[in-house]
Amino acid sequence: MSAIHELQPHALWQYFSAICDIPHPSFHEEQIREYLIGFAKEHNLEWQSDAVGNVIIRKQATPGMENRTGVILQGHMDMVPQKNNDTVHDFPTDPIKAYVDGDWVTAEGTTLGADNGIGMAATLAVLAAKDLQHGPVEVLFTATEETGMIGAQGLQQGVLEGKILLNLDTEEEGELYIGCAGGTRIEISGDYSTESAQGGLTFKTLSISGLKGGHSGCDIHLGRGNAIKLLIRVLHRLEAEGVRIASLNGGSLANAIPREASAVIAIPEASLAACDNIIDQCRHELSAELANAEPKLTLALSDAAPAAELMSLRDQNQWVAVVDACPNGAQRMSDSIAGVVETSLNLGVLTINEGKIKAHILPRSLVGSCIDALSDAVAGLFRMLDAEVVFSDSYPGWKPDPDSRILATMKRVYAELYGQEPGVQVVHAGLECGLLGSKYPQWDMISFGPTIRFPHSPDEKVHIQSVARFWGLLVATLKAIPEV
Ligand SMILES: [Zn+2]
Repeated sequence: MSAIHELQPHALWQYFSAICDIPHPSFHEEQIREYLIGFAKEHNLEWQSDAVGNVIIRKQATPGMENRTGVILQGHMDMVPQKNNDTVHDFPTDPIKAYVDGDWVTAEGTTLGADNGIGMAATLAVLAAKDLQHGPVEVLFTATEETGMIGAQGLQQGVLEGKILLNLDTEEEGELYIGCAGGTRIEISGDYSTESAQGGLTFKTLSISGLKGGHSGCDIHLGRGNAIKLLIRVLHRLEAEGVRIASLNGGSLANAIPREASAVIAIPEASLAACDNIIDQCRHELSAELANAEPKLTLALSDAAPAAELMSLRDQNQWVAVVDACPNGAQRMSDSIAGVVETSLNLGVLTINEGKIKAHILPRSLVGSCIDALSDAVAGLFRMLDAEVVFSDSYPGWKPDPDSRILATMKRVYAELYGQEPGVQVVHAGLECGLLGSKYPQWDMISFGPTIRFPHSPDEKVHIQSVARFWGLLVATLKAIPEV
């Protein structure tokens, strides 16, 4: 079994190994920051840090390259701390035990931190190299990306001088990323009045399950079922038979497509057979509509313990109608990049219990004004019910520019190096480029990286050959950066 120290490119893997030895989970980044500053001092490179913990290191152009456009190489210094249940590991103090497993490097029982340790290691290898050709280079190591993008949020304007940003934090070698979605979190809370349950009612639990779920951005174009929306749709139909809601529980996170939702309902005994018919009909409809996307969809009715209180009829009618009418899923495709979702939203959480309703909705878009417009529409809908609507965690998108100069340069360089065209991608999720570009609107930005599988999980692994190709592309791109 070969060791990480024997892998090529040698310098990059040496630095990656050093990074693994230094604990650096989000919010415990002091040691890695010290390491980066120590590296700059040791190599006589100009450095600075800022109030939010970002570190910037500068390297002058190599001889003859002084007139090239300044480049910023950027990665984040924190990693997601996840471990298997049976792994003993204390992230703030213990080193990551990385090892070679066939074509991949992975870690013993924990996240590896290839996200974004490989990106960081590549920048250190550029800074230390004596045999590369490049113009003026600034390296921006951002703090605490994985939880709230705190470093990118707090980066000051006017600090960086380069005009081209190479973000090294995407996870599919051979793909160039030129845009990402921004988003905002909408939290809705409302009160409803209750009524005592009368006699002659049968209590049941109506549930939707077996759905695939997924990431509310990256998977939103797949047409999967949203358990909350499907449940509400069925409840809306059942209202004709006098069905009443006692409580409801759907989804768990704003940024996950809800896989399951259930409601405790009261059915008038005279309507039991009619309700069974409606549910059968809904089951057939949903199974047919989602035959490919959700083959395991289950709509079930089971016995439930009686509840003392029901949602008042008026409040129930209004809330069910509004949630049913609330937009959800992909709303518009990009008109500049074919096949890419521009604007979407996900109703991720809905709870109705003890007089309180809560809902979490996450709109995303490549275009900032589209997030605002969709947010206004959703807020207006729920404010009609006197609900409180709160926005938080907003971050801007990065609108793709198909005419970007760095895109043209890198496409050419990639084709020359590897004899094929790279893919061009836009992610319907957040990258730091959105925030960074909002501070430095003149930047020409692009993102690329090696192939990483299962990031943010203990199965995280990075493909060794893709690291070499990623490095080859980085080095050749630096050499090919156009003159100012
Ligand atoms: Zn990352």
